[in-house]
Amino acid sequence: MKPIALFPGSFDPITRGHESIVVRAIPLFEKIIIAIGHNSEKQGLFPVEKRMEWIRLVFKDHPSVEVIEYQGLTVDLCRKLGVRFILRGLRTSADFEFERSIGQMNKKMHPDIETVFMLTVPEHTAITSSIVRDIIRNGGDASQFVPDQVKF
Ligand code: ADP
Repeated sequence: MKPIALFPGSFDPITRGHESIVVRAIPLFEKIIIAIGHNSEKQGLFPVEKRMEWIRLVFKDHPSVEVIEYQGLTVDLCRKLGVRFILRGLRTSADFEFERSIGQMNKKMHPDIETVFMLTVPEHTAITSSIVRDIIRNGGDASQFVPDQVKF
């Protein structure tokens, strides 16, 4: 039996970069749980319900992909769900430095949890949800950066 992975992030909104990481990870895991982390004080651009709806649409033909929302520490969620693997995407060396700290501190707190990284495909390296949000806020067309199912 293959393991289960948690793919945490804000997914505000899901981008082609996120989509491709999940699609490439599907053969590796029994189940991939996409976990939308949020806190009640910090509002995102899109409501969590909308973000979840888009993710469900994007992966509707992939029954091993689920989406949930959560607040609090990712490692605590892993413990609660009995998940040992956190999946993350790496775009740049800046991502690496950021992820290294989080991954190592998570490991200190919960030694049984492993963070697994996948390198972005070159064509998705530049895509970030925050720039997509900027484009949308300023009335631009961000459709080439998000999955076809995401309609603003
Ligand atoms: P963002 O950094 O775009 O705001 P999230 O906080 O939702 O995205 O990140 C969730 C995960 O998805 C992180 O591991 C992040 O590195 C990864 N990710 C984000 N954008 C991309 C991309 N273009 N290609 C590959 N992985 C990505």
